[in-house]
Amino acid sequence: MLRLVLLGPPGSGKGTQAVRVAAACSAEHIATGDLLRAEVAAGSELGERVAGYQASGSLVPDDLILRLALPRVLAASEGYVLDGFPRSLPQARALDEQLPRGQRVHQAVVIAVAEQELIDRMRLRAAQQHRPDDTDEVFRHRLSIYAAETPPILQHYADSSRLREVDGSGSPDEVFQRIGAVLEV
Ligand code: AMP
Repeated sequence: MLRLVLLGPPGSGKGTQAVRVAAACSAEHIATGDLLRAEVAAGSELGERVAGYQASGSLVPDDLILRLALPRVLAASEGYVLDGFPRSLPQARALDEQLPRGQRVHQAVVIAVAEQELIDRMRLRAAQQHRPDDTDEVFRHRLSIYAAETPPILQHYADSSRLREVDGSGSPDEVFQRIGAVLEV
């Protein structure tokens, strides 16, 4: 059963790949960014608390993310692909500490893409999708947060021999093939 964390900078194609990998493995796709946007759209109490962080591209506090996401992970009895989560070392640790052994993350795959390529892709996506957090300034802020927060997460999974890296250049099909080649299902 697939219990995967998919990591990658904003614009790496992580979301697209997460959906495809989850579908191919009949696992649940759990994207905290989507869960947060749904809370904001619904006008829930949590949504009101997270809206400002999300609009600016800053990370939402760990306790709110865990409250939102852990129950979904626990309920994913057919396996899961986590997308945009964990985004900090405390989140990665909480996943290992708060899930029963048989439901813990089995593997983490990071999609590696050069920074200039990410900026080019973001400009294209902003033109196509009109996402309010896809401005140059917010995007660079999100890239810098990724660069700051991700090394300890990668180290966390590398230390437990759960980390694989794939080259994120080329077409979505090529990247999907590369991910498939490193998965241990
Ligand atoms: P995403 O759709 O994954 O790019 O997430 C969009 C925004 O939601 C991020 O810039 C953060 O503000 C927030 N967010 C999503 N997932 C998390 C997380 N696991 N921890 C903290 N903030 C998050």
